Amino acid sequence: VYVVTEACVDVQDKSCIPVCPADCIFEGGRMTYINPDLCIDCGACVAACPVDAIFYDAELPPEQESFIEVNEQFFEEV
Ligand code: SF4
Repeated sequence: VYVVTEACVDVQDKSCIPVCPADCIFEGGRMTYINPDLCIDCGACVAACPVDAIFYDAELPPEQESFIEVNEQFFEEV
């Protein structure tokens, strides 16, 4: 699963949204989030992001690992 990380906060360029074939990237208050249940691991969003905020979960920089939960939790809110 791909994960949006800290670099997106207050940038939210949203170039990733139209390139996602699974339509699983959503706009939140200060960043965008990838729905981990819908992401098909295609990687298209990585190249679209101008601030390199998106990583494959297994390749996350250690200081960004908390963003796995940040993305998950956005979709748990009712
Ligand atoms: Fe969408 Fe592909 Fe990025 Fe997953 S890896 S969020 S399916 S563009």
